[in-house]
Amino acid sequence: MNLFALFGNPVSHSKSPRMHNCAFRHLGLKDIYTRYKLEDPSKLKEIFLKLQLSGANITVPHKEVAYLQCDEVCKIAKDIKAVNTIIRKNDKLIGYNTDADGFYMSIKDMLPLKNALIIGAGGSAKAISCILKNNNIEVSILNRSKEKLKNFTDFQTNTWTNFKPKKYELLINTTSAGLNDDELPAPKDIILSLIKSAKFAFDAIYHKQTPFIKLCKQHNLTCKNGEDMLLYQGVLAFELFTDSKINADTINAMKIGLQLK
Ligand code: NDP
Repeated sequence: MNLFALFGNPVSHSKSPRMHNCAFRHLGLKDIYTRYKLEDPSKLKEIFLKLQLSGANITVPHKEVAYLQCDEVCKIAKDIKAVNTIIRKNDKLIGYNTDADGFYMSIKDMLPLKNALIIGAGGSAKAISCILKNNNIEVSILNRSKEKLKNFTDFQTNTWTNFKPKKYELLINTTSAGLNDDELPAPKDIILSLIKSAKFAFDAIYHKQTPFIKLCKQHNLTCKNGEDMLLYQGVLAFELFTDSKINADTINAMKIGLQLK
């Protein structure tokens, strides 16, 4: 039996354990996926090894620290400089980032795209901007303050005050505006001018309809929330955990896991 865990703070709300355990049960495996509230991120590697985990996912706010604690970092996680999935190989921690590909799989119905605007400049914006750039989609970033924009030197970046809206096919909200309030991710006049010429809207928030998505729907944009991104980052992590490709039935079991209360 292999043991897996989600590290984060907080972690009690997370649907990842249900999603992964549903897939293990569906495949007849005895493996278990649990959660671990990590207060001191500097202890991530030590705790991982002490619990004899075979693999783990890392969530907010520890993805950057996880990147630094891995013995080896693979593929796009190197560019993003953040890790959300770890597997153990001979007591070495190997880090991956499945958020980026998970996002890209979740917008497949919107492709092909020429350009996109990402609102927000945190961890999820880093993963999403990287995967869009790798797929030759032109990306601009809009954030309310300057500081985090320093992490996006390869992109056109603006704050609300110096932003001149142009035509973007896809608008992406990666801020937490709307998560626990009724805020839009930028001032309403900016959002409205963007909506006029956009085709699609995506919100990384997954468990509710945000004011951003509500407004985009009212203006007939094709909209998507972050549920499929959550699912597909989990599917890709599960494939790394089990070193196998999973089929549609197992993905369906994970989807059911996400819907369990
Ligand atoms: P971070 O904390 O790293 O970044 C948050 C960003 O949002 C910052 O740029 C911040 O701006 C901006 N922001 C926060 N509040 C507001 C507000 N009220 N108005 C405008 N801008 C705001 O967060 P993450 O990138 O890790 O996560 C962002 C969201 O994405 C969360 O809601 C999270 O749940 C969701 N998410 C979903 C995933 C999925 O699989 N569906 C995966 C990962 C995240 P400033 O720099 O000015 O502070």
